[in-house]
Amino acid sequence: MSLLITMALATAITQSACGADALGTSRTLTLKREAAAWGTAQHAALPTLAPGEVVLTFDDGPRPESTPVVLKALADQCVKASFFMNGEPLRQHAGLARQVRDAGHTVGMHGYRHEHFSQLLPATQLADLDAMVATYRATLGAEPAAYRFPFLEETPTLLKALGERGITVMSVDAGAEDWLPDQTPQMLADKLLSQLAKSHGGIVLLHDAQDQTARALPSLLQALKASSYRTVHLRWE
Ligand SMILES: [Zn+2]
Repeated sequence: MSLLITMALATAITQSACGADALGTSRTLTLKREAAAWGTAQHAALPTLAPGEVVLTFDDGPRPESTPVVLKALADQCVKASFFMNGEPLRQHAGLARQVRDAGHTVGMHGYRHEHFSQLLPATQLADLDAMVATYRATLGAEPAAYRFPFLEETPTLLKALGERGITVMSVDAGAEDWLPDQTPQMLADKLLSQLAKSHGGIVLLHDAQDQTARALPSLLQALKASSYRTVHLRWE
């Protein structure tokens, strides 16, 4: 069998694994690398996102106990997401970080350490950003394009530094409060749908470092599909 036919067959098999029952990825939205900030919790809505479209994002990983579970749930539904990783686990679990990227997901930054930056001196904040960028480059061999603040706690120092580097700040539009303890899949799904009903879709904040989120993700994706939300894969050019 020729290589081309083998490749075509492999593509057909991959596509058939995600039929009409799967949530899938409805389209890819490619953003410019620029100083910008999106997400209505703190900024403007992501441009061109239509009502009912959602961008799934996962913070605080990569974590060997839960990130692979999240990757499997996303693959089962043919969904592409964005992962905002902290520098320390990115360095410690570099192979897993590359696995996330190689699965076609987008990787952004979330602070080298998960700090309350408003309580830190400007020089300490800038050192954290430098370490984060250096770790991203060393691990993924690429220039980072996007950053989400830990606790969404923005500071003038880091906003200015990110702007000067042409890095886009990603806030959120909706979530499931999945950092609260003892949340069942049903509780998380209810919260996610209720927040999305208010925001009419948008950037969704979840955490791949949380076991309960990883376990609930198949239910959450089914809930999105049942409510006719469409997922958009965010990328930077
Ligand atoms: Zn976080």
